[in-house]
Order: sequence, then C-alpha cells, then structure tokens
Amino acid sequence: MIPARIHKLSEQLINRIAAGEVVARPASALKELLENSIDAKADKILVELVDGGLGQIKVIDNGIGIHQDDMLLAIDRHATSKLISEQDLYHILTLGFRGEGLASIASVSDFILNSRIRNSQSGYQIECQFGMIGDISPVSLNYGTIVEVNRLYHHIPARKKFLKSNTTEYTHCKTIFENIALAYPEVSFELTHNGKNIYQLPKQALLSRICTLFTEDYTHNYFEILEVENHDEPNLSGYVYHPAYHNDYKKKVQHFYVNKRYVRDKIVQNAVRQGFSGVLHSEHQSQYILFLQINPSQIDVNVHPTKNEVRFSDSRAIHAFISRSIQKALSINITKKHFNLTNDEFISNSAAFNTLNNTTFLDPIYSSAIHSTDNSNINTIDCDNNNSNKRYDHSHNKNDKIQYSSNAVHKENTPYYARAHNNELLSDITDEAHNNIITAPATSALSMPLLGYAIAQLHYTYILAQAQDGLIIVDMHAAHERIILEELKQQLASTVIMQQQLLIPIVINLTEILVETANNYKEELFQFGFEIDLIDNQTIIVRSIPNLLNTDNIEKLLFDVLDELYKYNSIDKICEHQEEILSKIACHSAVRANKTLTIPEMNALLRKMEHTNRASYCNHGRPTWFKFTMNELDNKFLRGR
Ligand code: ADP
Ligand code: MG
Repeated sequence: MIPARIHKLSEQLINRIAAGEVVARPASALKELLENSIDAKADKILVELVDGGLGQIKVIDNGIGIHQDDMLLAIDRHATSKLISEQDLYHILTLGFRGEGLASIASVSDFILNSRIRNSQSGYQIECQFGMIGDISPVSLNYGTIVEVNRLYHHIPARKKFLKSNTTEYTHCKTIFENIALAYPEVSFELTHNGKNIYQLPKQALLSRICTLFTEDYTHNYFEILEVENHDEPNLSGYVYHPAYHNDYKKKVQHFYVNKRYVRDKIVQNAVRQGFSGVLHSEHQSQYILFLQINPSQIDVNVHPTKNEVRFSDSRAIHAFISRSIQKALSINITKKHFNLTNDEFISNSAAFNTLNNTTFLDPIYSSAIHSTDNSNINTIDCDNNNSNKRYDHSHNKNDKIQYSSNAVHKENTPYYARAHNNELLSDITDEAHNNIITAPATSALSMPLLGYAIAQLHYTYILAQAQDGLIIVDMHAAHERIILEELKQQLASTVIMQQQLLIPIVINLTEILVETANNYKEELFQFGFEIDLIDNQTIIVRSIPNLLNTDNIEKLLFDVLDELYKYNSIDKICEHQEEILSKIACHSAVRANKTLTIPEMNALLRKMEHTNRASYCNHGRPTWFKFTMNELDNKFLRGR
C-alpha cells in the first residue's frame, strides 16, 4: 500500500481541531470569554445567553479593551498579551495564557469582537464567520469589550451531535457562570437567558455572594477556614459545610479554586475527603468553597487546554496542608456548634477541648491519670474493663472531691445537678449512687463540665448525664471509639503507636494471602503497634499489640487489619487510608454496647470526650451524643403553660 502524502493542515482546520478541545460546548466558550473579561480587569460583566448558548453568547465587559491594531491578532491562534517569555509560563497569574480561546471560538461560530480602549475616540469591530475573517471597522462603543458568539457549531454537524438539549447546555453555562462569579465577588455580574434575568449580582462580600448563589443556609452554617503556612504561602481560605447542620444536605456545593482558578483536581478532592474523614457519614457529601493561594511557581497550570487542572510541584505537602486545615476547622467548629459556644467561650474553653491545634495531646486529667502514682482524684477509663472496679472506683477518697449538699449550695443559682440533691424524690436512692451523682471532681466546683455528670446507664448502651442545662445522652461505644482513634492518631503522628508486649504471644492461623500480607507490611504493622513474626505460610505469631487495646479478640482484630492492608496493598495507599485502618483498630478496642459501666467510669468517658478532637462524631460520622435542654423538656411536659 502506498502511504498518503504528508501536507500541512490549513489554519482553519487547525483551529477547528483546537476548538474541539477548548470549546467543546457553549459553556466552555462562555468560560473562555468570562476569563478574558476578568483578565482585562473588568469590574462589571454582563452575560446574555440565547437557547442555552447555542443561539447566542454575548459577554459585555468594562475592562481595559483591545488596541485597534491588535484586533486581528486577538482572534489569531497562539496570539496573546499575557505571556512573553518561557519564564512567564511559570509565573502565571492570569486565567488565560494559551492564546487560543478567541481563535477557537471564532472558527466555529458567527463571531463579532467589539472593543474600545480608554483613550481612544472610537471602538473597533471585527467579524469572523466560521473562520472567515472580515475587515476591521470603527464602531460606537463604551469602554471595554463586547464579544458576540452566534450560531455556535451551526455548520459543524460533527460537533453538534455531541451537544445536549438547550436546557442542558444552559445548565452547564449557568454552572460556569456561578463558578467564576463566586471567585470574584468584587466584580458585578449579570446573567440573562432568552431575555429572562437569571442573576443580578452587585459587587459584594464573598458570603453575600455565596448566599445569592446557594441560598441563605450557606451564610449561617459555615465553618470558616483561614490557614496560612510559612508566612503567606500557601494559604487556604473559605468555608466548609457539615451536612448535619444543613437543611438540604444532598446539595453538592464543591468549589475549589487555586489562585482563583476553578479546578477539579484528584489530589485536592482526595485531600478534602481526608479532611472530612471521620466526621462525615458515608451517605453525606462534603460541601466546601475553598480558595488556595499559592506561589504560581509552585504550580503548573498548563496541564490541559481547558485549564481545569493544575499540577503541584509538591503535591504531597499541598495534600497534607489542605486536609490538615480542613480537619482543624471542622474539629474546632463542630465542637463550638455542638456545645453552642460563642467564639469567646470557645477560646476560654479551648484548653479543655484541646482542639486549637493538632500538636501534642495535653489532657491534664488524662496525663495525671497515667503518670501519677496517686491517682485518687481521677476517674479514667481504659479498654480493659474486666477489672474496672478495682481500678476506677476512687470514691472512697473524699479529699479531692467536693461534696455538694443542700446546705452548701443555693438553689436559685446552682446548676441542676446540684439542685437534684434537694429533690426529695431522689432521697431514696442508695448511698453509693447518691454519692456518685453529687460528687464532682474538685476542678468543677465552679463550673459544670460541658457534658455534665453521669447519672445512669440506659440499657447498657447509652450514658445519661446531667448537664448544666439539661440531659445529655451519649452513645458510649461510638464515643469511646472516637477517643481511641484520636489517641492512636496522636501516637502515630509522634512516632509509632505505643505497644504492649503480650505475656503469652498469640499464634494465629490465617490464609496464605494474609500471611504474605503480614510479611510484606511488617514495618507498617509495627508502626500501628503490632509486632508479628511468621511461623509458616499459614501461621503468624503476635508478640505485641497497641497499648490501648484490650486482649479480648486479637485474632479477629488482626484478621481485619491484615484484610485492610491487603485491600490497599501499597505503602502509598496504606498511608492514604491510615485513618480507616486506625479506625478498624479503634472499633475493636472500644467498649461494646451491652457492657456495664460504673458511674466513675462513665464520668471518665465524658471527661475524655471533652478533651478529644471531634468527639461529637464517631469514626463513621454518626453523632456520639445528643442534648435535651431543660427548655425542651419543659416544653414537652407543658410546664409553665
Ligand atoms: P488568551 O486569553 O489565552 O490570551 P484569547 O484568545 O482568549 O487568549 O485572547 C487573546 C487576546 O485577546 C488576549 O490575550 C487579550 O489580550 C485579548 N482579549 C480577549 N478578550 C479580551 C477582553 N474581553 N478584554 C480585553 N482584551 C481581551
Ligand atoms: Mg482567553
């Protein structure tokens, strides 16, 4: 067979091929035009659409305009005012830079470009019909630029067949408009479709813009992020939303911008997911509007013609920065919201919450519990509940406690838990239990702890606690699971998870695949707190397990952990899914429902919750506690009506 001869493609064909990538649909043409207006420093932009953009896309801006002599170049391919040298390519701060937006659009539409610069007497116009360029002529015009794109893809059936209905194309255009309008609240925008006004956005603050675009709900229940790393770069700002606090949690508001460029990037999406991990139920979607500001030399925006992707020079660091910032914001804000605290109250309590930063775990109660030889003033809980009575019942030592009695406290301004003591109905409870209700650690003589004091256990599943202004119900397994997970994370962050040597090592029979997995990831298992050795290809021996674990069902636990490791089966993946693996370990070690806890044990759990990051959600994103305020209860009983 004789090969076909090689020839140069015509300019028109080159443009059409580029158009396939750059302007695949009306929304992508609109994106190019809006980006040009933003780059031209316009602070007023009008968009008029007809028939989903297929009839017409018209963008009117009051930007710097195009010089008369550059009108022709503007619609030429690879012609741009935004880039001069190769060096500039690594410092891009404009949205456009490839010089192919207008050329591509003009090759597939009936295109008119009008522009007038500040000190020019007149504006100028150039037409281009499906790639056929006309003459430049003067035109009367305000300062700025008007681009008209008519009959997009009219003569190009090959492209047209990929388009959807006008309604769908319009929806895509509207989304592009929203994406850009959201990042530039300092610019006023207007959108009409078939003559109907859709958006009229004045210059406004970001929150007002969010509110106009996505309803009021988004201006009330946000968690703000303002994270700065190393002086001023990178920094992350914006808002995250927890579905638990939203009316319409099915809505998908997921906007991420890098240097104000809307991007959909796998690294970013994964980092956000990790930021939310553990506080989001699997059925819920994370929601966010986030802006990453980063030195342009640290990113490559020239990854794809549509410029929707970026490449980070240090993607690991950026990933960690984003997920850490989100975790921090969620942890602080969920605590604030759950306890209904103002900013000031939160700051004064932050030492107790220990959520302001993710550094060392500084829980005064807990650390004295493990370090002090005289542990009489603390009630702490451990996984090993079998001998709990011996270890946790400190009520015999009265020195460190304050006894509340009806004589000692005034009824009017005392917390409910103290008042309960005055209640004759309670007088017949046993002495010991009575002690437990009214006996509080010395530290709380002045203020009631946020989760109050335990009064009972309900069906061996829930802890009932009396708080300052109502009744708290805690799912004890879920809460304990979170406490253990956060502790494991703390330990792993500092080096490895603390181990306990087993007196009698345990021999476990496994499948060959899991034994091989155990062998492959021995080092990782060690970091997670397990020391294991292989006996043969179906048996391993476990010498150490994490310190926090009970020894009840190590076989099942190890089986689950190995199964997870096998599932991820690469060091990177294991690192990425570390939290899931730790969560498995935590789940095995947390107190099970159906276990009796003593009042001091329950109180210890409550205190630890107050000191644990994200304690309001279990590791699967379910809430760990609820509160019924006295007001709510009074209402239920129609009191005072
Ligand atoms: P790019 O934006 O990548 O430079 P375009 O083809 O989109 O490429 O635009 C080519 C050039 O036309 C731009 O570099 C800019 O100088 C000019 N231009 C396009 N649109 C506008 C506008 N709305 N206002 C001012 N100048 C514009
Ligand atoms: Mg452009």
